[in-house]
Amino acid sequence: MLPLVSTDARLRLSPSSVNDYNNCPQLYKYRSIDRLPQPPSLDAERGTLVHTVLHDLFESLPSERTATTALDLLPSRWLAQIQAKPELAELVSNEKEWLDRASSLLATYFTLEHPETFEATHREMHLENDFEENVYLHGYVDRLDIAPSGEVRIVDYKTGKSPKPGWEEKALFQLRVYALLYWKTYGVLPRLLKLIYLGDGKVVNSNPTLNELDSAEKILKRTAQDIFVSIAKDYWPPKPSRLCDWCFFKTICPAHTD
Ligand code: SF4
Repeated sequence: MLPLVSTDARLRLSPSSVNDYNNCPQLYKYRSIDRLPQPPSLDAERGTLVHTVLHDLFESLPSERTATTALDLLPSRWLAQIQAKPELAELVSNEKEWLDRASSLLATYFTLEHPETFEATHREMHLENDFEENVYLHGYVDRLDIAPSGEVRIVDYKTGKSPKPGWEEKALFQLRVYALLYWKTYGVLPRLLKLIYLGDGKVVNSNPTLNELDSAEKILKRTAQDIFVSIAKDYWPPKPSRLCDWCFFKTICPAHTD
């Protein structure tokens, strides 16, 4: 019998778990099979803080969705984050520097979008699908806007820098999976996929096609089959790369300890 990968014994896939497996099966095993705990990372926590502020910004009236409002939200959202995860207080040694960096990322956001001019129809939208008999596919979309014309735009905020030329396709995989989930659920092909990189103030836009969604679906199916083979054989080859320098599991990984 296959080990449980989700509580209902189906393989639980998301764009990030698919990326984990394709980047390094051993990393996927640590995270998704063994579910080893990982300490909070500064980059991830800063991303959470900025995402929370951008999420809550759309609670305001359109005319109040300004950079000043976003910066005013920052201290209270940070306080709530520390209260939920007290270990963050120790991790962030210089709070002023930390909040300054988050403020700078938020200021960059307002050079890329004008949130007073549109409504965010959904924020943190959960999309899911019984992808195959034994595979459940899901993901959380940062923002999904439906224009009065019915056109759908899927938006994802990144607090890092934009990909180097030639790497945009890899970055777009996550949004194509969301577009596929939306298409399967609502029968509507999103008009635009938009990746907003606050780290360097760049935007990657893409108009998805059914062919691209089909390719994303093939990658998902192939990866699911590969994961089932790995589970059956308990075979999780490490795949050393530049990722190892940021991998929390490096000290226990066979690629670095044998
Ligand atoms: S250290 Fe490198 S090879 Fe090992 S699990 Fe992490 S990413 Fe994979």
